[in-house]
Amino acid sequence: MSGIYVHIPFCKQACTYCDFHFSTQIKHQDKLVEALCLEVSSRASELSDPISSIYLGGGSPSILTHENLKKISSQITKSFDTSQVLEITLESNPDDHSAENLMFWKSIGINRLSIGIQSFIDRDLKFMNRAHNANEAADCVAKAKNAGFEHLTIDLIYGIPNQTEIEWKSNVEQAIALRVDHISAYCLTVESKTALAHLVNSKKVTEKSEEEIESEYLLLHQLLERSGFEHYEISNFAKLGSKAIHNSNYWSGKPYLGFGPSAHSFDGNIKRSWNVSNNASYIKAIKEITSYSESEQLTDNERANEQIMTGLRRKNGVSIDGWTKSITSEFQQNLDQMPLALKERLLISETNVSIQPESWLMADAIIRDLIIE
Ligand code: SF4
Repeated sequence: MSGIYVHIPFCKQACTYCDFHFSTQIKHQDKLVEALCLEVSSRASELSDPISSIYLGGGSPSILTHENLKKISSQITKSFDTSQVLEITLESNPDDHSAENLMFWKSIGINRLSIGIQSFIDRDLKFMNRAHNANEAADCVAKAKNAGFEHLTIDLIYGIPNQTEIEWKSNVEQAIALRVDHISAYCLTVESKTALAHLVNSKKVTEKSEEEIESEYLLLHQLLERSGFEHYEISNFAKLGSKAIHNSNYWSGKPYLGFGPSAHSFDGNIKRSWNVSNNASYIKAIKEITSYSESEQLTDNERANEQIMTGLRRKNGVSIDGWTKSITSEFQQNLDQMPLALKERLLISETNVSIQPESWLMADAIIRDLIIE
């Protein structure tokens, strides 16, 4: 099964930590959506498998007008066989959860909301320059449920400077009390050229230590597992039967098409492509029917390395079945030479290697040792 990703590159304001592609020039959304629909229709023949998931991400798709969201949804239905689609996710921000928006999203077939709560504390939300406040964070899930949404995932951020561990625990407990079926939690990372990087470099903000981050991560893992969530990927937790279909397919190497500026696509085999990360260039190129994307062909080694990188951050681990003899033997050699302190973190069978969730924060170090040259 394949997936469709649509990147909506607009946000109300810039979060301090964000390095995704977006613009705050929301007034240009009509032109962008027009170009995006042209891209969808022109690439209709690129997917041969049935589609199982559609993901509207960004950016902030929840700030699009109803008219523009409808245009995108109708164009996808017109261009692809969506009869077998199980999951249609829209990324939404708590301040966009008006009754009108929620009802409209439901009416166009959205059946899962991914809500960017991040924290229930006003001080954190201000620090991260989020557009919503703590009241909206606390109320947005109930509003979505009232509108009939059964599948809800919320995002949290840990490692926030100046947040105490008690506050983090309270954030996780509030998330649990909302009775959603999925939670994603990401560590606040300092990406270069962001406002957060500037604050850290100018010593106005001090990053949390590795020990503090590990402690918050382990607390998150314990609290959520105790509440019936399965920790199935480093940043993702699901109640029974509620794992994210779109992301799970992506981690398993299934094909997907990405539309919109900066969106990536993969043919499920060896070809990866990515669209230009600039709204004006994207619109111009689509209008003038010139190129708006670049692509690459993955070698066997690169494909194996991608499987190692995504697999070792998932409970399923990495399956070494289907690799060439030379890749398998180099991987085996890397495993043999790995320092014991890291190797002890692995579960190794004949065909599979995985890391226990408690050790996923060490995945980068483990992956570095296992990568195929
Ligand atoms: S809402 Fe999301 S995409 Fe937009 S600036 Fe904030 S983190 Fe980035």
